[in-house]
Amino acid sequence: MAGEPQADCLFCKIVSGDVPATVVRETETTLAFRDINPQAPTHVLVIPRVHYPDAGTLATVEPAIAADVLREAAAVAVADGTDGSGYRIVFNTGAGAGQTVFHAHAHVLGGRGFNWPPG
Ligand code: C5P
Repeated sequence: MAGEPQADCLFCKIVSGDVPATVVRETETTLAFRDINPQAPTHVLVIPRVHYPDAGTLATVEPAIAADVLREAAAVAVADGTDGSGYRIVFNTGAGAGQTVFHAHAHVLGGRGFNWPPG
């Protein structure tokens, strides 16, 4: 069924507590935890508790939860103090764009400068 946990999904295992993570915020619908391989002083992943393979699918099927993910991403930036200097919210979508975990997630990156266009 749409949104059901997937046995082979790493982020579903973080949601269930079977895989540990450093959780910084949680809501009824979302979980935010520090990326295990940080690319900036602040690097937090915000995921929906429900499983969808990418952000576009989540936004189409569960738009209210997609909005929760975006709101929580902004809240992470405020909590880590990166909102003053600017931060980046990234949804890698598809292997060609660098997505490696196929459970929708927002990267919140902050605490350093960023280039444009991204690599
Ligand atoms: O956008 P992408 O799918 O590549 O992002 C997946 C992210 O999940 C990576 O930044 C990776 O470091 C992170 N990760 C993690 N904890 C794990 C496995 C992966 O934070 N146990």
